[in-house]
Amino acid sequence: MRIRFLLPMLALVAGLGTAVATPAAADPGPVAAGKVSVADACYSWGRTLSEGASGEDVRQLQIRVAGYPGYGGVLALDGQFGAGTKAAVTRFQQAYGLAADGIAGPATFSKLYALQDDDCTPINFTYAELNRCNSDWSGGNVPPATAKANALVSMWKLQAMRHAMGDRPIDVNGGFRSVACNNAVGGATNSRHLYGDAVDLGAGSQGFCGLAKQARNHGFAEILGPGYPGHNDHTHVAHRSTRFWSASSCGI
Ligand SMILES: [Zn+2]
Repeated sequence: MRIRFLLPMLALVAGLGTAVATPAAADPGPVAAGKVSVADACYSWGRTLSEGASGEDVRQLQIRVAGYPGYGGVLALDGQFGAGTKAAVTRFQQAYGLAADGIAGPATFSKLYALQDDDCTPINFTYAELNRCNSDWSGGNVPPATAKANALVSMWKLQAMRHAMGDRPIDVNGGFRSVACNNAVGGATNSRHLYGDAVDLGAGSQGFCGLAKQARNHGFAEILGPGYPGHNDHTHVAHRSTRFWSASSCGI
């Protein structure tokens, strides 16, 4: 998150007095330094990106708009700014009231900076809640760094879903599992939890079916919910190569 977004938040918190826990406590230091113009602590884009562009900066953009592929879509994270990326950027811009031209420039990047924490996770989700199994993402079906990177993409999809559902908190029960953790909970041997991209959601204020239905719009190729064996008490969303959605009690 950029500092200039923090200052109004501090003022707001101060104005609300003691009734509110101060989120600013988790963001020390930079405010006092007053470095408003410093680059984002996670990642900063150095050029405007539009259709035809390619590179790591495009891939970084794709990760952050992965939750905007449209119904049933999955955005390729390939570093190539094609029609799908343009459409995703356009939907992101529309979601936040920006000029929706499908070109990622200063206004789009500014919104993305505001939405990301210093560790690149979206502001409303954390690596800790996506991994309640171990501390180092080891022991799954992919290398630890891959599992963690997969979890990051799922978090950006969830951030898009959260925003689309009125910015109410989404209840995350867990994500990545090592083989040992997966066996301990009786998970399927090919569970996407072993790859780091699966997330189990609690009902929260949205309800299991509300979450399952909405997830269809945000890049989750795997959605399992009420009516699917073992999923009457949570909604599971994940990535996979071919679509598999099943939540018969929700009409999915
Ligand atoms: Zn699951």
